[in-house]
Amino acid sequence: MHEWAIAEGIIKAVEEQLRSGVKPSRIVVVAGELQNLDLEVMRGYLDPALSELVPEASVEYEVEEARFECRSCGFKWSLKESVLTSEEREAIHFLPEAFHVYIRCPRCGSRDVEVTSGRGVRLRIEY
Ligand SMILES: [Zn+2]
Repeated sequence: MHEWAIAEGIIKAVEEQLRSGVKPSRIVVVAGELQNLDLEVMRGYLDPALSELVPEASVEYEVEEARFECRSCGFKWSLKESVLTSEEREAIHFLPEAFHVYIRCPRCGSRDVEVTSGRGVRLRIEY
């Protein structure tokens, strides 16, 4: 699973923050819906490591909704609003990068679609 690689990256990023001398008070792991991370698995890796690194910081997890924008007509919508069969949803769930095969603009039918959010994993750190 790719959860471990991502967790490792997050731990490194927090370590870097600490080296620069600032102490985070709140760390939010924002996971894109298309990234399809198992947050329970992430917690299993991250919670023990972070409670050791930054015992005073609260650690939270958020899923960022996947949103699309049509390059042809400008229409914006979310993954939830997409008209998909359960098989297509399943395919995107297991292979998020394949969304282009299945996602069409609900308004004009174009496949020229851009992902505007819900991709990747980022950290929001507050001090
Ligand atoms: Zn469109």
